[in-house]
Amino acid sequence: MQTTETKTEVKPIDCSHYIDGKYVPSGNGKTFENVNPATEEVLGTVAVGGKDEVDQAVKVARKALKGEWGNMPIRKRSAIIRKIGDLILERKPELATLETLDTGKPLWLSNSVDIERAAYNFHFFADYMTSVGTESYQQDDIAIHYAVRRPTGVVGLINPWNLPLLLMTWKLAPALAAGNTVVMKPSEVTPMTATVLAQICTDAGVPDGVVNMVHGFGETGAAITAHEEVDAIAFTGETVTGTAIMKSAAPTLKKLSFELGGKNPNIIFGDANLDDVIETTMKSSFINQGEVCLCGSRIYVERSIYDEFLERFVAKTKELKVGDPFEQDTNVGALVSEEHYKKVLSYLDIAKEEGGTFLTGGKAADVDKGYFVEPTIITDLGRESRCVREEIFGPVVTVIPFETEEEVMEQVNDTHYGLSASLWTTDIKRATRLSAEIEAGMVWVNTWFLRDLRTPFGGMKHSGIGREGGAHSFDFYSELTNVTVKL
Ligand code: NAD
Repeated sequence: MQTTETKTEVKPIDCSHYIDGKYVPSGNGKTFENVNPATEEVLGTVAVGGKDEVDQAVKVARKALKGEWGNMPIRKRSAIIRKIGDLILERKPELATLETLDTGKPLWLSNSVDIERAAYNFHFFADYMTSVGTESYQQDDIAIHYAVRRPTGVVGLINPWNLPLLLMTWKLAPALAAGNTVVMKPSEVTPMTATVLAQICTDAGVPDGVVNMVHGFGETGAAITAHEEVDAIAFTGETVTGTAIMKSAAPTLKKLSFELGGKNPNIIFGDANLDDVIETTMKSSFINQGEVCLCGSRIYVERSIYDEFLERFVAKTKELKVGDPFEQDTNVGALVSEEHYKKVLSYLDIAKEEGGTFLTGGKAADVDKGYFVEPTIITDLGRESRCVREEIFGPVVTVIPFETEEEVMEQVNDTHYGLSASLWTTDIKRATRLSAEIEAGMVWVNTWFLRDLRTPFGGMKHSGIGREGGAHSFDFYSELTNVTVKL
């Protein structure tokens, strides 16, 4: 899973807001310190935006909507969006290093997943936008109906810290492709790559005022979600934050797209190819320190292969190297912040109290500095365990045996979450039957996290509202007017 990338001599940056094509500090000069979670050293400062900065950003975004951007021929806009992707690739060593400094994730992962995919988000939508159509119906000899697409307007893009650039670009690329203007708010924990991205957009030819960014904490996000002149909010983050945003956006009836938390099952039947299961389960459990919303943290294994699965899974997990994210052979880096590290460790205490057995890990890694947790496999926890029910978002999985399909399916769907699931079986009838029964927005059969950007991405139940990807993103970032012409 690694590539042979090395550390570059990239310096961390101080993060200012980006409004109307320029970096600007907060009016009151307020900043906070950005900390490297792998070393606990201060990387730099980050501006804290308030209502004033959000007001300025929204004002210029609304103006830009009516300007050159709104009237730009589609081929020209597509070329600019493609160029953003090109510039991200050109600056990949710098962006990957900043992402690793901010998140604590291995550099090889920043390079091979985060930055590559960020660029691809723009390349994909630069192509996609040129072929997007609308519906048209002829109603006998009475009328022709056709739909006209226009941008949704000024969109607030609010993002979490686990895949900072990847997730921001996953929203920004389709928002721009559909002709919107935006106010981005990256996570306060990982502000650096979005700060560079804003400049990249300008360098690629995006007119001033189209892409704006305000840094800060939850209150800054709340100022965006409550703003009268913001038409829509695309949010990825915790379910509880989604609830707060829904309340805050209600008085102004904003269009909402929510990608929220998950507690995803990984269901392994005895007929599955165990080599493939082990290889992929290592990733779905521990990649990005388990800080991926799609991670399969509830692992259900058919009793007939339970012992063999555990023996092999535990042996592989013990081989994982935890430590310096800039070392090429590091598998698991640091958790993103002290706060999150304490949260993950608190779940390990809960697991102990609940009578769980730790087959690996169960504690902080033995390092002098930084927020490292050992990859942890827990068994002997029941379905009511908080560690089985709540999103831990760290390198921690629970493994539970099952005897029958009915028994496992009841447990799989016994959750408020509904983001994704992995189903491992070579019985195609069982795979199709259970895929339809699993209450999740995405089901992977004999794989995990295999993405095609045209497909619907998102969750049901408390894991989200709406879908992103291809036409789904485009529909969120545009409004349709149906025109009826009487014949
Ligand atoms: P979070 O909800 O704490 O924060 C996300 C963003 O929302 C941050 O920018 C934060 O400053 C902002 N925010 C916080 N309070 C706000 C408020 N009241 N109004 C507006 N904005 C506010 O989430 P996090 O801890 O940064 O990220 C981890 C969570 O994200 C996990 O639950 C994970 O499952 C989820 N996630 C989901 C997906 C998905 O696609 N479904 C992808 C990645 C992460």
